[in-house]
Amino acid sequence: MADEQQHEPHRTTTVEQGRFCAARCICGWRGPARRARSKARTDAESHMSDS
Ligand SMILES: [Zn+2]
Repeated sequence: MADEQQHEPHRTTTVEQGRFCAARCICGWRGPARRARSKARTDAESHMSDS
């Protein structure tokens, strides 16, 4: 995990914001706050396939 590839234009993670969770990408994109992390992950996946 120390030497991850950096060539991907998009790489999403989910960040917690209090009781909410939002998807976030290294490109600067940020998804809406969701109550369910699974929803945030769905946002992330649609962002990834949206390029
Ligand atoms: Zn992105």
